[in-house]
Amino acid sequence: MNEQNNLTDIFACDVFNDDVMRARLPKSVYKSLRNTIDNGVALDQSIADVIASAMKDWALERGATHYCHWFHPMTGTSAEKHDSFIDPTGNGSVVTEFRGKELIQGEPDASSFPNGGLRDTFEARGYTAWDCTSPVFVKGDGDNRTMFIPTMFYSYTGETLDKKTPLLRSVDALSKQATRVLNALGETDVTKVSSTLGCEQEYFLVDRDFFEDRLDLVLCGRTLFGAPAPRGQEKSDHYFGALHERIASFMADLNQELWALGVTAKTQHNEVAPAQYEMAPVFELVNIAADHNVLVMEKLKKVAERHDFVCLLHEKPFAGINGSGKHHNWSMFTNTGVNLLDPGQNPHDNDVFLVFCAAVIKAVDEYAGLLRSSIATTGNDHRLGACEAPPAIISIFLGEQLDDIFQKLAKGTAKSSKKGGKISLSVSQLPSVAKDTTDRNRTSSFAFTGNRFEFRMPGSTVHAAAACIVMNTIVADILEDIAKQLEKSNNPKTELEGILTKIAKENMKVVFNGDGYDEEWVAIAEKRGLPHFPNAVSALAQLNCKKNKDVFKRQGVLSASELTARQEILLDGYSMDINIEARTAIQMVKRQILPTCLDYTGRLATAAATISDVGVDASAQMKALEEVNTLTAELQDRIAILEEVTDKADAISKTLKRAEAYRDEVFTACNSVREIVDSLEQIVDAEVWPLPTYAEMLFFK
Ligand code: ADP
Ligand code: MG
Repeated sequence: MNEQNNLTDIFACDVFNDDVMRARLPKSVYKSLRNTIDNGVALDQSIADVIASAMKDWALERGATHYCHWFHPMTGTSAEKHDSFIDPTGNGSVVTEFRGKELIQGEPDASSFPNGGLRDTFEARGYTAWDCTSPVFVKGDGDNRTMFIPTMFYSYTGETLDKKTPLLRSVDALSKQATRVLNALGETDVTKVSSTLGCEQEYFLVDRDFFEDRLDLVLCGRTLFGAPAPRGQEKSDHYFGALHERIASFMADLNQELWALGVTAKTQHNEVAPAQYEMAPVFELVNIAADHNVLVMEKLKKVAERHDFVCLLHEKPFAGINGSGKHHNWSMFTNTGVNLLDPGQNPHDNDVFLVFCAAVIKAVDEYAGLLRSSIATTGNDHRLGACEAPPAIISIFLGEQLDDIFQKLAKGTAKSSKKGGKISLSVSQLPSVAKDTTDRNRTSSFAFTGNRFEFRMPGSTVHAAAACIVMNTIVADILEDIAKQLEKSNNPKTELEGILTKIAKENMKVVFNGDGYDEEWVAIAEKRGLPHFPNAVSALAQLNCKKNKDVFKRQGVLSASELTARQEILLDGYSMDINIEARTAIQMVKRQILPTCLDYTGRLATAAATISDVGVDASAQMKALEEVNTLTAELQDRIAILEEVTDKADAISKTLKRAEAYRDEVFTACNSVREIVDSLEQIVDAEVWPLPTYAEMLFFK
């Protein structure tokens, strides 16, 4: 088999996709299932047994011995409980069996998953329900192969306990309202609108030997200590640099595994920071893209280990160099194949594009706080506002051409679109090339990038559903208003002009085409009245305000109690993260760093005494001793403070108050411990320093 054939054969070979369904299911069953997937018609339970049996046969051929309901609880990771296909016959032998009811519903014990107060701990029942819109796949982990069934996860009382259910609800809401708007504008062949997502996933790879010697990396995913290496990313020579062979081999292996799972791994490159990389698949329906991103994160970790690396997905594994994000490229497509955010050649004249673009602008302006809270995590706090990532203020970059159109719309109508023109490279062999209508803006948190919006705030660990739930919901809500106005009007075209002008007048304050990293931007944003939530706790504190509760309720995405439960879980998660970091720091200092420094001071003292004893000036030894000794004593003091504030914060019973204490007291105390440890690292004998250094972790392969 030649290379080319191989690639197309591998792709999705472990996925029960449309081709497989068509080939293996009776025609009527296939049609009925397709109708459920495409049009949301409730699954005809009578065909479930047929589908299950076809899936089982296919999975057994793919080497699977087990099946599992795969779900996304509020833990920040996915969950799976495997059952084998074997079924005892009663006479000592077994047959393989997989029934419709096992495909459709599962019942894992839910008592140990976060529920944010929705249930009492003794209430254990939780259910998983097949999400047939995301394909079933067989995944191998080591020698085990299991058939994975994407599912939703909910409680005995029907409340959602996961990330997928609200995502699917938001997909429906957006489809419904977007279709209404299009139908009202005369696009009557549109019956469905889907949101699409392409996630750029950034990550770090460090050698496994270094990782295992650092408790902070093992337990927290980031370095709690570490003096900067003499060299960082200042030379910009890692970005898009030639791939190191060990890294390239890892990527090759990763791609094979992802392709088999139907993940369209497309782009791979070195990122800005040393030891940092990125992968991006081709965009697809949000729900599938979110599932696939979970698989990407999982495979990044597993394949890395096989190559004796560890993949760090944390937003800021190393201080002083870039952190990792997960840019969300988001758009909307009709069932007729139109990208609603494609401006075309003459955007000023493209009503459909303008109304959807305007709806996004208005949604982001009105619900900036909600969008901000969707990406509020402990790790992301290190990243927002740092070197590369956007600041914690949400603003939209529209670019020259669209900005011009919306300025004109604010005054009435837009009659022209600025053109890009040509660029001549002044190389005689080359023709001039088309110039884009707008440059890129890397500093914007929510940037229009030609035919989609790119939300750059999400951190590298976040579940892609989180921000998509919010984007779908808030855009759906604005579209609903627009739809109502258009449906009432006798002249939708004129009505639309009025709607666009109103949005262009009222919501353009969220548009900022300048440098989002500029200090002044914070002041400008404040003057414009844009919300600024500098950290996760402040962002999460407002998550369940009335306005946010109302929009989720109106669009049928989350009930008030479901939203409050989520807020509880997220705030609690923040406290737990900082608690783990603090306790890890305490343990590392007490068991590794202090003993090293105490030994080292002993060594210096002995040297000083021995040298003085023979009548030689020991001032050099004394100087070094004093320096290390003073810092060591200071470290002891600061670690005592850290222990005290951690215990105090831990004892606070109110969730928000506790998170605030972790942010204001514990996190700060941790940083002040770090300051001393990093100073010590730079003066203590490298031979005895117990932790691998930044230079080793970032530059040794
Ligand atoms: P960048 O140059 O911004 O780093 P990448 O090529 O790394 O871009 O990733 C861009 C992502 O945007 C890819 O996942 C791509 O498939 C996705 N994308 C492109 N068009 C759309 C669209 N219309 N909707 C959603 N995502 C899109
Ligand atoms: Mg990128």
